[in-house]
Amino acid sequence: MTTGGRAVPMQQSRNDEVVGKIFVALSQDMRKCLICDGVFTRQGAAEHAGTICQPSAGDSGIYGGSDDADR
Ligand SMILES: [Zn+2]
Repeated sequence: MTTGGRAVPMQQSRNDEVVGKIFVALSQDMRKCLICDGVFTRQGAAEHAGTICQPSAGDSGIYGGSDDADR
């Protein structure tokens, strides 16, 4: 008989606190997101601050671009 008493701790790292999105003011109405290099208007930046953006075409290795497919 298997004693199934495993208590698996739920360690889900929540990313709820996305508060510190970084914008650079290009001009009075233009904001540039330093994460994805997107340029937005003030309203667009306010909306973009509530979304999750990723760096476009990052360096390599973080999100598992495994190139060993030919083995
Ligand atoms: Zn962004």
